[in-house]
Amino acid sequence: MRVLLLNPPGRRTYIRDYFCSKTTKSNYLFHPIDLVVLSGTLAERHETQVLDAMAEGLDEERALARVARFAPDAVISLVGSVSWDEDRAFLARLARLGPRVLALGDVLQEDSETRLAEEPWLEAALHVFVNQDAVHYLEGNLAEVREMTLRRPDGRIERIRSRGKQRGSYRVPRPRHELFPGRGYRFSFARSARFATVLTDYGCPYPCTFCVIGTLGFQTRPVQDVLEELDHLRARGVREVFFMDQTFGVQKPRALELCLALERRGDLSWTAFTRPDTADDELFAAMARAGCHTVIMGVESADEGVLASTEKGYSGAEIRAGFARARRHGLRTVGTFIVGLPEETEESLERTLALAVELDLDFMSLNMAVPRFSTPMRARLLEQGLARPGDLVMDQGGASSSLSTHTLDRDAMERLKRRMVRRFYLRPAYLWRRMSRARNLHELASQAREGLALLSKNF
Ligand code: SF4
Repeated sequence: MRVLLLNPPGRRTYIRDYFCSKTTKSNYLFHPIDLVVLSGTLAERHETQVLDAMAEGLDEERALARVARFAPDAVISLVGSVSWDEDRAFLARLARLGPRVLALGDVLQEDSETRLAEEPWLEAALHVFVNQDAVHYLEGNLAEVREMTLRRPDGRIERIRSRGKQRGSYRVPRPRHELFPGRGYRFSFARSARFATVLTDYGCPYPCTFCVIGTLGFQTRPVQDVLEELDHLRARGVREVFFMDQTFGVQKPRALELCLALERRGDLSWTAFTRPDTADDELFAAMARAGCHTVIMGVESADEGVLASTEKGYSGAEIRAGFARARRHGLRTVGTFIVGLPEETEESLERTLALAVELDLDFMSLNMAVPRFSTPMRARLLEQGLARPGDLVMDQGGASSSLSTHTLDRDAMERLKRRMVRRFYLRPAYLWRRMSRARNLHELASQAREGLALLSKNF
């Protein structure tokens, strides 16, 4: 079978992966991890190509021409709530070329039966990308499918669910990084232009109410499989990695084992997400020795009430201690925040900005609260009438606001968020530190480019 893995074109730069979707906050675009993982699974059994129209900057016509040239039997496409109206129109056109069309993305995680009923071009939706469902489905082994929404031969639409959240370990064939475009990906924290995006575990064991990743269960890949993938990348000259694990170090012995193996190789540098209460001194030290230079950690809010209501499971004191620990080990820190929750006020945003400054962050990343599909927060917002079930288009990247808070309407929320970004990044001492700490020309140029892109979106 000829299978095409597709990231569709769009009017703006969209990040659609891992059941989240947003516009890029500055200019970054990394490899969509779902397609990276699926590339190994599909290529092991079928002739597989990747078309990332976002990375290649293709418009609809050129993307369709490329699809027609490959003439796939099946297309597995990313879709996202951020671009749903564009995606569905484009994929309906693509389906007229003849291939079967499967899709995955946040907008299909909830009420997927309705989405299939509404979209005749969509044959089936994948709800997990680290299992063999795509292969089983395409080969007609429906009895083996674990987590999909599909059309039965009699036309019935059915969502197949496995019982309970997935745990334990999973194995996937080595992702085929070589199928992805060599240019077009940009990552703000990478120390060289060429980098790879790698997943060593799937999901997250924490229950944060706004986050879809916590709804996916938690599974790990054997360290040996990860090392085989990394060694393959090293052999191709890649030295910079973005680990997409959502909480690096959840299983500390496993993380230490991986770090030790990377330290022995001694030639990789990397960025990872972790939590301020998960990474202790031993783990941060091991990560730094293994080549980690940047850690991304959730702060979310300066408000203890918001931390509690979103079930983050840590306090402001733990946040402060975690960021101080990372800095002691020489790691750059990125703090991610969620703004615009119903309880948000102008005053709480002030306190959040003050905390970002106090934490001495290298980068501050603001995410707009959105009722992300299949999350507990969405259920609460629907119940409170603050979100509407039929609103499928939303953007947590902050280009627009999806929610009003109890005291701020959407326009006010957006205006205050843009002001926060400017006040954080346009501090002269900060700008001097940012530029003076660049290690090489690539880093300097990339930070200037990303910074300008970020600021231009927040004026
Ligand atoms: S720790 Fe991070 S990835 Fe895990 S559920 Fe919370 S926000 Fe999501």
